[in-house]
Amino acid sequence: MAFTDFGLSERLLKAVDALQFTQPTEVQLQAIPAALAGDDLCVTAQTGSGKTAAFLLPLLQRLQAEDKPQAATRALILLPTRELAQQTLREFSRFARFTFLKAELVTGGEGFKEQAAYLRKNPEVVIGTPGRLLEHLEAGSLLLDDVEVLVLDEADRMLDMGFAEDVLKLVAPCNKERQTLLFSATVGGAAMGRVIDQVLREPKFLRL
Ligand code: AMP
Repeated sequence: MAFTDFGLSERLLKAVDALQFTQPTEVQLQAIPAALAGDDLCVTAQTGSGKTAAFLLPLLQRLQAEDKPQAATRALILLPTRELAQQTLREFSRFARFTFLKAELVTGGEGFKEQAAYLRKNPEVVIGTPGRLLEHLEAGSLLLDDVEVLVLDEADRMLDMGFAEDVLKLVAPCNKERQTLLFSATVGGAAMGRVIDQVLREPKFLRL
């Protein structure tokens, strides 16, 4: 199966082509069709497996299908560290280059006021770490009611770092009709079970 078999838009295929990705990786082969079908996913996959593209391509396909006025955050991507959030933004920019979609990075260690000003311009996609995102939610500079796609990447590390409560507080205001995609190197343990129960709806479990 090739990238052209997923039913992705020309704009996205052009970006994939520019990156010289010839063959989808295993996680992409399994997760992209399931995510495009609208399912909630719980994917066990390692860093380096190509999992970022496995959630970004379906997310971009969904957001660009409807050219909504830029009025709200439509996708929220949570990661445990600033470095991972930066990498994800870089990958987003590569895939989104031929679309109108914009992303904003929201992590600690950067100016809060500047971030709030950027968030007021309503980027469709917000990529960040739970602590700082929660501060923006509580300050009213981040509105999550219209989030259609929620991604929890490196979920096990987020829990290990003590972000469980912050994650659940961020998920609570997200649209109930959203799609949620959870990626993690491991999915064992009580804390992970609680997050999966509270955040995902009839998920498909993919183990890679
Ligand atoms: P990730 O696991 O998402 O951190 O991706 C690891 C690296 O593999 C990143 O540098 C990606 O750009 C690259 N990559 C992802 N998918 C593919 C693919 N299908 N073909 C070649 N490289 C890829």
